[in-house]
Amino acid sequence: MTHSPQKLDLPTRPYRRIATEEAFSPPEMLEIYRKILAKDNVDVGFKNLMGFYMSSPSERAQHIMRCLVDLDELRIAHMDASGIDIQVLALTSPGAQIMDRETAVSFIPNANDELAAAIKRHPTRFAGMVALAPQDPAASAKELQRCADLYGMRSAVINSHTQGEYLSDKKFWPIFEAAEALNMPIYLHPNSLPAQMIDPFIEAGLDGAIYGFGVETGLHALRIITSGVFDQFPNLKMVLGHMGEALPFWAYRLDYMHNATVRSKRYEAIQPTKRKPSEYLKENFYITNSGVAWGPALQFTQAFMGTDRVLYAMDYPYQYLPEEVDMLERVDMTPEVKRQFFQDNAVKVFDLKI
Ligand code: MN
Repeated sequence: MTHSPQKLDLPTRPYRRIATEEAFSPPEMLEIYRKILAKDNVDVGFKNLMGFYMSSPSERAQHIMRCLVDLDELRIAHMDASGIDIQVLALTSPGAQIMDRETAVSFIPNANDELAAAIKRHPTRFAGMVALAPQDPAASAKELQRCADLYGMRSAVINSHTQGEYLSDKKFWPIFEAAEALNMPIYLHPNSLPAQMIDPFIEAGLDGAIYGFGVETGLHALRIITSGVFDQFPNLKMVLGHMGEALPFWAYRLDYMHNATVRSKRYEAIQPTKRKPSEYLKENFYITNSGVAWGPALQFTQAFMGTDRVLYAMDYPYQYLPEEVDMLERVDMTPEVKRQFFQDNAVKVFDLKI
């Protein structure tokens, strides 16, 4: 299939731009969502996220819905218009994690098959992460293996909590075991807030991407760290978006207070770990800038993590702003660091063949 890319006004560059947190939805997933949204007692966060996008007449919502289901011309035209060479695709949040276990487990292979088909249609433009139904950890481990074997997929996405449950719970650890064994990084992407957390956020209108998502996903990553996941699976790699959901900024206090809390023996959940929280962040995580096109935050995150651990992401279609590519191009980085940020780190983390 051929495309006629628009002429870019961005300067020619000695690297490709790879965007690493780019969402899609098979139309069938939206049909399942419609059925969930029609029920009584719908999860408040889900209703406020997908319920909004799927029913709002606003131009932004309609645009997002059109883009989410497109894995061909429209998406590629937007990539060309914004100077994105490759999108690393992920099933949009909450994926199957809002579904009942049986529906989730039967839907997920279809979603991954559709993703693989899109990559096959556009192999120079798309790569993708395996979506999972953490409701069934054993099935998730098998799905990782299936997609690795059948499609050569090399990473996975989990949209934060699964109906209020966290991956720090050992029942989910077969997923980590498989991901580590297959050397597939897991992108921990935000979800809407779980019922037990959402009230004070929604009351203030702050439950969404403005703040709530970052708080909840940061909490989730921290729970994974403090529960000892990386002592059990030292070679497990994870990816966080949104400048690490602010965890790098917290790192000093996390280390100090984690140590104090371990020593106090106040909490059963806070047991000694082999390393400091900041060490797991720097050695088991990669961070993307998704949604944050801001030089000072990028440079701080690069200084904390190392320039080889910070990757570019657009967060298409939720934050499709071509000018943000230009804003990031203008951040003061050496040519080598810029190439790491836009290309080399993504090639390494997602094992891309470009
Ligand atoms: Mn996103």
